Amino acid sequence: MVIGGGVVGASVLYHLTKAGWKDVQLIERAELTSGSTWHAAGGMHTVNGDPNVAKLQQYTIELYKEIERISGQSCGVHITGGLMLAGTRERLDWLKMAKARGRYLGMDLEIISVDEAARLFPLLEKKHFTGAMYDPIEGHVDPYGVTHAYAKSAQLGGAEIVRHTRVIDLESRADGSWNVITDHGNVHAEHVVNAAGLWAREVGRMVGIELPILAMEHQYLITGDMQELVGKKEQLHCIDFEGEIYLRQERGAMLMGTYERAGVPWSPLTTPWDFGQDLLPNDLERIAPSLEVGFAHFPALGAAGIRKVVNGPFTFAPDGNPLVGPIRGLKNFWVACGVMAGFSQGGGVGLALSRWMVDGDPGADIWGMDVARYGDWTTLAYTNAKVRENYSRRFSIRFPNEELTAARPLRTTPIYEKLLAEHAVFGDYCGLEHPLWFAPTAAEAEDHISFRRSNAHPHIKAECQAVQVSVGLLEISNYGKFEVRGPAAAEWLSRMMANRVPAVGRIALTPMLNERGKLIGDFTMCRAAAEHFFLVGTYAAETYYLRWFERHMPATGVSVRSCAMEYVGLSVAGPHSRALLQSLVRDDLSTAAFPFMSFRRMEIGMVPGYVGRLSFTGELGFEIWVTTDYQRALFDLLVRAGREYQLKLFGGRALNSMRIEKSFGSWAREYRPIYGPFEAGLDRFVDFKKGEFIGRAAAAEEKQSGGALRLLSFSVDATDADALGDEPIWHEGRTVGWVTSGAFGHRVNQSLALGYVPATLAKADAGFEIEIIGERHKAQRLAAAAFDSSGKLMRT
Ligand SMILES: Cc1cc2nc3c(=O)[nH]c(=O)nc-3n(C[C@H](O)[C@H](O)[C@H](O)COP(=O)(O)OP(=O)(O)OC[C@H]3O[C@@H](n4cnc5c(N)ncnc54)[C@H](O)[C@@H]3O)c2cc1C
Repeated sequence: MVIGGGVVGASVLYHLTKAGWKDVQLIERAELTSGSTWHAAGGMHTVNGDPNVAKLQQYTIELYKEIERISGQSCGVHITGGLMLAGTRERLDWLKMAKARGRYLGMDLEIISVDEAARLFPLLEKKHFTGAMYDPIEGHVDPYGVTHAYAKSAQLGGAEIVRHTRVIDLESRADGSWNVITDHGNVHAEHVVNAAGLWAREVGRMVGIELPILAMEHQYLITGDMQELVGKKEQLHCIDFEGEIYLRQERGAMLMGTYERAGVPWSPLTTPWDFGQDLLPNDLERIAPSLEVGFAHFPALGAAGIRKVVNGPFTFAPDGNPLVGPIRGLKNFWVACGVMAGFSQGGGVGLALSRWMVDGDPGADIWGMDVARYGDWTTLAYTNAKVRENYSRRFSIRFPNEELTAARPLRTTPIYEKLLAEHAVFGDYCGLEHPLWFAPTAAEAEDHISFRRSNAHPHIKAECQAVQVSVGLLEISNYGKFEVRGPAAAEWLSRMMANRVPAVGRIALTPMLNERGKLIGDFTMCRAAAEHFFLVGTYAAETYYLRWFERHMPATGVSVRSCAMEYVGLSVAGPHSRALLQSLVRDDLSTAAFPFMSFRRMEIGMVPGYVGRLSFTGELGFEIWVTTDYQRALFDLLVRAGREYQLKLFGGRALNSMRIEKSFGSWAREYRPIYGPFEAGLDRFVDFKKGEFIGRAAAAEEKQSGGALRLLSFSVDATDADALGDEPIWHEGRTVGWVTSGAFGHRVNQSLALGYVPATLAKADAGFEIEIIGERHKAQRLAAAAFDSSGKLMRT
């Protein structure tokens, strides 16, 4: 049962029939398209900041031919090609990076001069622009046509569509199926999909969840008919980033829309049920600054006057990407909502969700739109602040070192003020403040945003050097933590994880695989007692992991819970870390008594905690986990005792640099559900001898075949900008792969990158290049980690 007949619900319905489900129904409150769909501008494009979402956008645009053919209903597709205009050097850099990313996605993007842009789009005033990117696959569609083409195709595939029927409540049954209560009687459904668009929050509330979405008012205008368009080929779709406007031709006129800075949420708390094919009152004053810029950049539009203004609401998640997938804790309840670009993304959303429902797996890397990327912190007010920020920044550049400011600070640990007093520059991770780097003075505690090395570079260098020669102290509270207990805990973990479960007092690193043998997690498994484990992993994936754990939970014998904010952490790393910690604990920390990968409950001064001997920096190091109430005391103790060892605070940026020097991967970068453990170089953490575990058969096959890809480490001849992630890797003049992470390695004084290439190139020595901001730089494959490849430092 799909609730909602907008473009997204219709796409989900079609894809379910395509995947072989015939007994499917869509319920629509009014007529199809009665939410945000009917008044959309219908623009579509393939470019997206997340390459995996970009792939689904490509799929969506290609799908229109298919549904037109099946249904006989025109989608009104106009592939005009598109221009993205740059008004500054930074924007041109950004476009070059987007073009580079498009390369390994098979997109045919081109950077062109202003003259060339003006030839393609004569309405622009050249003096406002510095260059442009041309994309041949852009244009617009008819929202009504697309929705009906999906719907008819679904009906031909066996689906039923019920109109003028509103779902008013949902009741779960003991077997996991649903009673769908409507104003025209009840329906029993095995699965329910919430594709209710503008009302997705209300449908979520029927099952007790608060989805992080908010509708914003959005305005576009249509000019009077323009002489300039008469007898000409249809104008290109055009985005003017600095003007913060988009344009396309609408019959003999132009359509111009804007994402204004002072965006206004619509119905922030509840969406009225009597809102239908309605428009909101115009507010030209609000978009006046954008119109002024628009008419200066495209003077002919100003002269043509305004014939019509459309103001309609549509929904956004805090990061602007869709919310798709099963909801943790609810059986057979799925969402496909928060889709702000239904005509670029609707097809991909329908495909991924239908596969998930039918095959148990979305079949693609959809982490960027998985509803599980959000957790408890996305309250209504948080969502409101972030969505408004996202809307106002729709056409802004997001610099790699830029931390957004809305809804902050929200979550802090007890030492937040102490770190602030040490001039920490904070980042926001899942709403939690965590230190990125430390400035020498309060006045310098600010990142100058840039694609190139920033003002933070020398300070991060000093942090890395301190870790290398003395000892560094890092807050590590922003890791995900889970406690697993019970008589069946070890047996259950052995089935869930690819590596062997550690003995009591030991730690094991382990990938977690899905049935297809792909990486869906990487954990540090610490065993405190026979029936008591701590798992440490990525915090952003907490709900994602819990959803997976709960799906595979036996009836008795094991319990799992998140204890992410119950246990906060500090880590000491560097050659003096042992001496420092030894001065505070009674336990013997020598390698003989407490070797690498040991884990034990200890008292650090007066503070009880768990100490693990492990290292993400590559140096000798210890991670200390304590309950929140002890963190301040522990911090003061370590800082005081650390004076003797020249202890220096360091942050997440230095950690990132050091883990790349060690070729250590990280979730959502090197480890994602499109890679297998052998491709990712995690072979030594997959134990085939221990018996059955999820993904074993597929992993064995990958081991046999060697996999298609290989994660490699590179040193890069970069000058003032390092690779960051998503840059293309070239080999002998061809794009062969992509960077997953990059940074300057301060301990090895070398720019570094990690990335995937075809397995056939795993041993290639020469011919690699990495493209950074549009320029190809020579890259050397590293046969081993750049820093301490033998791992001696962290083991002794
Ligand atoms: C002015 C404007 C311009 C836009 N321009 C573009 C553009 O150029 N390109 C682009 O890609 N996107 C654009 N969009 C966004 C686009 O409209 C949305 O991405 C898309 O409509 C989302 O579709 P949906 O199916 O998720 O939601 P909706 O269209 O809101 O559909 C939800 C449907 O569910 C039904 N429903 C809800 N609750 C119930 C219930 N309880 N029982 C039964 N039925 C229910 C509703 O009646 C509705 O028909 C624009 C939007 C606006 C407002």
